[in-house]
Amino acid sequence: MPFRFDNSYARDLTGFYLRQMPDRAPNPRLLGLNEALAAELGLDIDQLRDHGGEWFSGASVPSGADPIALAYAGHQFGGFSAQLGDGRAHLLGEHLGPDGRRWDLQLKGSGRTPFSRGGDGKAAVGPMLREYVISEAMAALGIPTTRVLGVASTGETIMRDQGPVPGAVVARIAASHIRVGTFQFFAARGEDDKLKQLLDYTIDRHFPDAAKAEVPALALWDAVMRRQVSLIAEWMGVGFVHGVMNTDNMALSGETIDYGPCAFIDTYEPGAVFSSIDRQGRYAFANQPVILGWNLARFAESMLGMIDPDQNRAVDLANQALDTIQSAYDEAWLNVMRRKLGLLGAQMDDVGLVQDLLSLMQDQAVDWTRTLQALAGAVTEDHTLLNLFAQQNPMKHWLVRWRARLAPDATDRLRLANPAVIPRNHLVEEALRAATLGDMSPFEKLLAQVRDPFGATAGREAYCLPAPSDFGPYVTYCGT
Ligand code: AMP
Ligand code: MG
Repeated sequence: MPFRFDNSYARDLTGFYLRQMPDRAPNPRLLGLNEALAAELGLDIDQLRDHGGEWFSGASVPSGADPIALAYAGHQFGGFSAQLGDGRAHLLGEHLGPDGRRWDLQLKGSGRTPFSRGGDGKAAVGPMLREYVISEAMAALGIPTTRVLGVASTGETIMRDQGPVPGAVVARIAASHIRVGTFQFFAARGEDDKLKQLLDYTIDRHFPDAAKAEVPALALWDAVMRRQVSLIAEWMGVGFVHGVMNTDNMALSGETIDYGPCAFIDTYEPGAVFSSIDRQGRYAFANQPVILGWNLARFAESMLGMIDPDQNRAVDLANQALDTIQSAYDEAWLNVMRRKLGLLGAQMDDVGLVQDLLSLMQDQAVDWTRTLQALAGAVTEDHTLLNLFAQQNPMKHWLVRWRARLAPDATDRLRLANPAVIPRNHLVEEALRAATLGDMSPFEKLLAQVRDPFGATAGREAYCLPAPSDFGPYVTYCGT
């Protein structure tokens, strides 16, 4: 049997989606199959090799699938759209893994739906492979994320700003596709019954403990807040910039979702922005925790009626909840940075130690990943780390303080905390350019490297270095 489907969203949430078949791709071809993920999900790999091209492109649907496009709203760059929804995605169903865990299987780029508005419902090979390689990197880094089970080219040519490009569909796995924007959709329409139904469904699927709380809506909010705070703290640890933290791109499961114009920073720059459309820097690297707070406020707003029937009291309770975000984030972030600096336990001056390192990194525009990765060696020798800094004296002083704070045996811990390999922007671009022209080998090599982020540098130096200076400033475009 290929998939063990049990489609609870389609079955239990009538009115939350529209049934819609994916487009039939004219000439499907499997571009990538995530065999490790397939094995984890208990799927038959030979069968996926044979049918993946058809299934992942939407040319045919596997038995038991019940394709639907989900309704949602969302704040995009701060402005509210009451109706977004899956405009180019089809949820095929929910697959139950060998341990009984439930996973959405969704196609993206699989054709128009009633939510498409002006879009063509399609996706290009480049952006779909981009989602594949970056989400695999995130998974290997231990950061919660949706994952790509496979990518298929459709055999169609689609039109994009840069001209005609080959079309592709990605098949992705997610704990669910419930977004802040899903709640906002029903809140904006004043559909209180549906909102309550969505609350119950979300709690049942992701946070069953919240059902027992005095105010389940608040307990759900708190559980989502904790997952998101931890997620964004992890992003900040690896230098990840999501690029479009709209409320429709925030999954309540706490997974990184909707890889579009995202990128990893090379040199450390808090204001780093890559997306061509983010002109105000709303989603800049260091602004991500701020936007998280903003999005969580929109989430609380959408549930006010379920927090308390008395509006004033509901607002009071929501505000009290919102007041907890900052300290939860500060704590999560500091714990991530303690891990990255190899610090065990908690000491008063840890924040200072971390902040001083970040200031030195920012002042001297050093590479985020290489600097942190060099810490493991810097436990016993100076030069690898110091060589990254043009002015070495301030860094020497910092090293003395840091070593005094380090517990013994920090080296191994540091190696496991700081990757040598992240998907470097210039390598991602090179791999996608080649793949668009039909050569998958640079992509496959890059994919293999990002799947082993914590391995040694030796023998793969080219994957560990930042972009050469002639690569220029990096600009990303929305993944349409
Ligand atoms: P995203 O920026 O990918 O999160 O998408 C935001 C919204 O635009 C969602 O409602 C998508 O379904 C829709 N969308 C993005 N690209 C397309 C496209 N090519 N065709 C139709 N809808 C799209
Ligand atoms: Mg989206």
